[in-house]
Amino acid sequence: MSKPNLFPFPQFAFHADTIERAAHLRGDANALAARERQTNARALIVCRDALLLRQNAGEVTFSPQEARALGGDGPVFLGLRGEMPWFAYALGEEAAAKLLAGGQFIAADVRALALEGVVPIADLSAVAVAKSITQWHLRHRFCANCGNPTTVAMAGWRRDCQACNAMHFPRTDPVVIMLVSDGERCLLGRQSRFPEHMWSCLAGFAEPGETVEDAVRREVHEEAGIRCGAVRYFASQPWPYASSLMIGCIAEALTTEIVVDHAELEDARWFSREETHALIARQHPKGLIAPHPFAIAHHIMVHWMNGA
Ligand SMILES: [Zn+2]
Repeated sequence: MSKPNLFPFPQFAFHADTIERAAHLRGDANALAARERQTNARALIVCRDALLLRQNAGEVTFSPQEARALGGDGPVFLGLRGEMPWFAYALGEEAAAKLLAGGQFIAADVRALALEGVVPIADLSAVAVAKSITQWHLRHRFCANCGNPTTVAMAGWRRDCQACNAMHFPRTDPVVIMLVSDGERCLLGRQSRFPEHMWSCLAGFAEPGETVEDAVRREVHEEAGIRCGAVRYFASQPWPYASSLMIGCIAEALTTEIVVDHAELEDARWFSREETHALIARQHPKGLIAPHPFAIAHHIMVHWMNGA
């Protein structure tokens, strides 16, 4: 690979959280207003499901005053990096359309920004939080209990219903992502939406009432017909599409005969360590590839390949 790896383990995308959330400040409106006026305060502006940037700017943040002047709603208090407060603002559709039409600003896809190294790795986690939580606000304007409009509370970390007093908190959806191994081989799958030739770990949402281990065993059996025994936690990765938490695991296969559920997967098969190495190194004779180091799946595969 000619390009340097921008996402080495354990500092991969959305994993290097360098902002202290300072949750004790969320209920203190005066303290937050003062923080917002600090000259070193930084603001991220989320526009649709992307980040608003100045055209040709090397910088992804604005001042809170700029964010408000551009029409940003909020803010959500993201936390402190040292003495530097970070906030997130959301741009409504009308303001977004106007700004984007002007040509001075662009709405940049977070994944593309990360892969191109535009967003420093230390800032990516803040971008992920900003994207997840502003999108949560957009989708949860009404009370799920009684249907009345809700209002923002706790610096963006809660929505309250004045009609029925229900409090609503930002959601995180747990997803298990697992490398299954029978010792010498690992089980990888392909979804039809994957880039061409890419093979990756199996994955799926954990369901209510399920442990992580049970979710791993169920998903692997549903998608590939393999029964798993021991499940070991590897690492996790916040995944802001929209608000998932990828829980990376390595699972021991108890059976080896694959039965692919074609509603979920295009294909699944076993890969030897040598072949897995070729996928990761992008030297596979058939051009097959592993996911980019941006994603946790890449790191689980490397970890197993190195003898886990
Ligand atoms: Zn309500």
